[in-house]
Amino acid sequence: MKSVIVVGAGIWGSSLALRLAETGWRVTLVEQHKPGHVRQASAGETRLLRCAHGADDWYARLAWQARDGWRRLGERAGEELYLESGMVWFARTPDGWEHASAQVLKNLDIECEVLDPGDGGRFFPDFRGDDLSFLLWEPHAGVLRARRATQVTAGLAAYAGARLVRARALPVAGQAAVRIEGEVHRADRVVWACGAWLPQLFDGLPITVTKQDTLHFAVPPAWSVPETPAWVDHGASAYGHGDVDGVGMKATSDAEGPPYEPEHGSRQVDAGSVEHARDYLRRRFPALGAAPVLFSQVCQYAITPDAEWLMTEVTPGVYVLGGDSGHGFKHGPALAAHLAGVLEGEHGLEPRFGAHERTPARGLRTSGRTG
Ligand SMILES: Cc1cc2nc3c(=O)[nH]c(=O)nc-3n(C[C@H](O)[C@H](O)[C@H](O)COP(=O)(O)OP(=O)(O)OC[C@H]3O[C@@H](n4cnc5c(N)ncnc54)[C@H](O)[C@@H]3O)c2cc1C
Repeated sequence: MKSVIVVGAGIWGSSLALRLAETGWRVTLVEQHKPGHVRQASAGETRLLRCAHGADDWYARLAWQARDGWRRLGERAGEELYLESGMVWFARTPDGWEHASAQVLKNLDIECEVLDPGDGGRFFPDFRGDDLSFLLWEPHAGVLRARRATQVTAGLAAYAGARLVRARALPVAGQAAVRIEGEVHRADRVVWACGAWLPQLFDGLPITVTKQDTLHFAVPPAWSVPETPAWVDHGASAYGHGDVDGVGMKATSDAEGPPYEPEHGSRQVDAGSVEHARDYLRRRFPALGAAPVLFSQVCQYAITPDAEWLMTEVTPGVYVLGGDSGHGFKHGPALAAHLAGVLEGEHGLEPRFGAHERTPARGLRTSGRTG
């Protein structure tokens, strides 16, 4: 039986552990805390699933495959992990990122519709779109109950036979092995899916870790319906969704925050982030300009310069999986299938995910700017 040690039980490590445990591998999943613990990026209350990725079609296709994976996972778990609320993109120019996205979605036969900014009232009780060129409606996009989905995925992996070990693992140079409390454990393959902790484990990775404040606002009943679509303003680096589980309407910034250390960094949101989000609400949804913060969370991005992920073999049999760049949750089940194919020798690693020098680009993120 082939054996694998997966380090990190965020959504990437847990999805891979589940996939491999169900396809004949002996799996050990090592996690320093608990699956779904609040420091991990995967423990956000919610994460968006969208297929639009600007001009890129690789991630668009993967997101579409992942949508099926989430729906199947929800059916297995007997709970709705994916809420298909749809998503409205606010396009500021006629031929920008959203236009390129619409072209790709059409080519891939993924449903989308270009609408007039005046149609915003169909989706939101109070909407101002006079600065917009058009709206892009993606009906099969939506919201994932992220923390819960991570716990369910790790639980299913354990149910499928993965051995969950609570420990902090360290790499062993040049070997397919991990060191836990001084003891070396070997396997045919080792995958380090350690999110924002990766730069502490391996030198020279093209990953920067940033603090990201997430805010949910208390909204009037007309807005508190889970069917309120998700929305993204790429040009303003702002995004959000309706009140999914009574934690309020999410409205937050996708612009990169300050450098951050995921284990010990402060988990308090900055006052400036609240003001920034409220300014946006005031402009886009004027009725919500004075909405109080109901819930907040601090999370971290592990960003590469070009927002392409990192999936690379650092030593024969040892893989680093990270650099999610703030857009990796949605892909969990499909990414796991992709990497499982690499480990099975069915196909090679995508060159785009290599450890080469990266040229700065932001087309894959929902953030069109940095500040
Ligand atoms: C504010 C915010 C909003 C986001 N929005 C979206 C979105 O809308 N859509 C989307 O698709 N994505 C989104 N993302 C990105 C998404 O959350 C991440 O891509 C995803 O969660 C990455 O999962 P991961 O498993 O790689 O990392 P993590 O979830 O961080 O898991 C890594 C795990 O490794 C463990 N670990 C680390 N080192 C060790 C060690 N040495 N030994 C044992 N265990 C170790 C950690 O404890 C941790 O549990 C967002 C991220 C943030 C922060």
